Amino acid sequence: MQTQMLIGGSLVAGTETEEQVLNPRTGEVILTLPEASIAQVEAAVTAASKAFTSWSRTTPAQRSGYLLKIADRIEAKAAEFASLEALNCGKPGHLALNDELPAIVDCYRFFAGAVRNMSGPVAGEYLPGHTSMIRRDPVGVVASIAPWNYPLMMMAWKIAPAIAAGNTVVFKPSEQTPLTALKMAEIFAEILPEGVVNIVLGRGDTVGSALIGHPSVAMISLTGDIATGRKILEAATKTIKRTHLELGGKAPVIIMEDADIEATVAGLRAFGYYNAGQDCTAACRVYAHSSVYDRFVAGLTDAVSTIGYANEDDSLNEMGPLISPRQRDRVASFVARARESNHIEVTTGGELHDGPGFFYKPTVIAGALQTDEIVQREVFGPVVSVTRFDEAEQVVGWANDSQYGLASSVWTRDVSKGLAMAAQLQYGCTWINTHFMLTNEMPHGGLKQSGYGKDMSVYALEDYSAVRHVMIAH
Ligand code: NAD
Repeated sequence: MQTQMLIGGSLVAGTETEEQVLNPRTGEVILTLPEASIAQVEAAVTAASKAFTSWSRTTPAQRSGYLLKIADRIEAKAAEFASLEALNCGKPGHLALNDELPAIVDCYRFFAGAVRNMSGPVAGEYLPGHTSMIRRDPVGVVASIAPWNYPLMMMAWKIAPAIAAGNTVVFKPSEQTPLTALKMAEIFAEILPEGVVNIVLGRGDTVGSALIGHPSVAMISLTGDIATGRKILEAATKTIKRTHLELGGKAPVIIMEDADIEATVAGLRAFGYYNAGQDCTAACRVYAHSSVYDRFVAGLTDAVSTIGYANEDDSLNEMGPLISPRQRDRVASFVARARESNHIEVTTGGELHDGPGFFYKPTVIAGALQTDEIVQREVFGPVVSVTRFDEAEQVVGWANDSQYGLASSVWTRDVSKGLAMAAQLQYGCTWINTHFMLTNEMPHGGLKQSGYGKDMSVYALEDYSAVRHVMIAH
């Protein structure tokens, strides 16, 4: 297993505290890895700054060529990447291989094409005797900081648009899930010019903090918690860095009286529990119309009780464990507190799995009220709450009554009703009659405290580049 970081084209080991990397399926230690020293963070930023001079002057076609090579290498090693991701995150291996890897490869390929097709206002004489034109130039060194839920995919979402746009990167994976990032270090070292991508390991308050506070970092990109986002913003004020934040969600799911309940139940079974609910777009906050509420809760309860997890035969698993004992206990404590309310019923799950690993049973919480903690706060686990509503206006108000604004969905047979609701929902994405589906051509990102950075799509290229005006006097 490749265990070294990447600094300026060389694979090097960290020199500081050893961090344990756990297998969430068994609780066993896979290995320990030393984190980077402050001097190594410094060296990574210096290497990225040095590489910026020549990388930022490459043509879009040249950068596109590098991205396509990276995509091909990941694709050729897809099975190895998937098993490493499954080992480190506990994901079912077949889902990592068949769902995640193709989307990751496609992300590099998408940006390889997109950077050759950027568009903007036409050049022209907007002032008599002067020609104006718009440029899009890279920002500089980007510090990219990723979470643990989709380590390799978050890495692709951050690195592909950043380097496509001509920036150089120092990337820090989550200290809990560094294994696929380290494998990527080999590919980057082999394909890219020295220093274009650097990878450092370590915890947020040590390595992360040194990275985001570095004066030569021009932009910070984070996918993580709101509290971490605040720290990024504070660090950014010192040298006015650009920031790109993706900070979680609590996705409302509105089930109208005319929804196809069978399809809705199947959708929620899939999109509420994928990745054990450790997904910022997870369909976790359901509002069901009174006329279909009972049928929906009964259907979802039955469906969720059949979700496969913790089977020795991994092909039967649809869901993995939580990432850590801490995360599992956090999920359990949300459910325990919800249970204390008289109006709430846990209709399935609601307990730890009896066996090794950090599993929590897929759970449905019925009868939740808008003001309940389980409706308001992000659980980030396999727990879906269901709340009854009567009026469309009331439910849009409840759906928008959240500090988050990342993703939402409406389930109805009347598309115009769905579109009217989509117009009122304050979320970065609204799906109608589905949830969770992403494609590299379309943006992913939030409103409100979910942040404002856009991943995937040409909007990510815009986020990772600066608009400039050049004017020529005739
Ligand atoms: P986290 O904020 O604890 O950690 C994210 C990353 O930030 C890690 O690499 C961590 O080491 C680093 N970090 C922590 N403190 C830091 C500091 N002071 N300075 C610099 N870096 C620091 O989040 P997590 O627990 O890894 O991930 C779960 C959270 O991420 C959830 O809230 C989830 O909703 C969110 N998330 C959001 C999206 C999205 O697209 N919006 C996607 C995935 C996860």
